[in-house]
Amino acid sequence: MALAPLMRLRLLDAVTGMHPVDAAVRCLAVACQDLADPADLPLGQRDAALLALRRRLLGDRLRACATCAECGEASTLELSVADLLERMGGAASSPWEVQHQGRTLSLRALTSRDLAAAVAAPSPQRARDLLVLAALDQDEDVHPEPVSEELAAVVAASIAEHDPGAEILLTGSCSGCGEPWSEVLEPARFVTAELAHEGARLLADVAALARAFGWTESDVLELSDARRRAYLDLALDMAG
Ligand SMILES: [Zn+2]
Repeated sequence: MALAPLMRLRLLDAVTGMHPVDAAVRCLAVACQDLADPADLPLGQRDAALLALRRRLLGDRLRACATCAECGEASTLELSVADLLERMGGAASSPWEVQHQGRTLSLRALTSRDLAAAVAAPSPQRARDLLVLAALDQDEDVHPEPVSEELAAVVAASIAEHDPGAEILLTGSCSGCGEPWSEVLEPARFVTAELAHEGARLLADVAALARAFGWTESDVLELSDARRRAYLDLALDMAG
């Protein structure tokens, strides 16, 4: 079922001016009230919820673009959200254990809360360390020293294995030169951008109908999409 017009504007309010990590959490909080705090969802689950929301709003077909690093040719990829959701697999069951240098480490999936803390870190290096410590459920104050490359690699690989939906890798080959490419699909970034775009389009419809017929925002939002489009056509005819 498509999202009601009022919900589309509430989603626009939720994402406007926000960093994609915060925008993703806020729009899930607005649209999926059956979820527990979306900031605490494993990233794979968060992104699956975002893609499901995107499917409800804009349908299953998704177009992704990639630019070849070799020759600069742009490739377009047609994707199905349902296929992506299937590929992302089940939810991560945290915590799990992994062996590293003779020790058993307990790891958990990363969440938007962890990402938000990392975004605020003073350097990319520190951001990475914060994510590793978060996955290990260790306090950064207790471990102020840098995390080793080996440990960071072990933790990253283990997260990719246990929360496979946390990174969606698209691969293909360039239609110009045949060079293979891969691109990470970031639902937090593109779904929230799409939601903002949809909301802005609806606002433009509201403004056009208010101008043509003197209706209020709530008058317009009560119309179905089909009825709104029909009135927009009539408004255009009147103006012409
Ligand atoms: Zn190319």
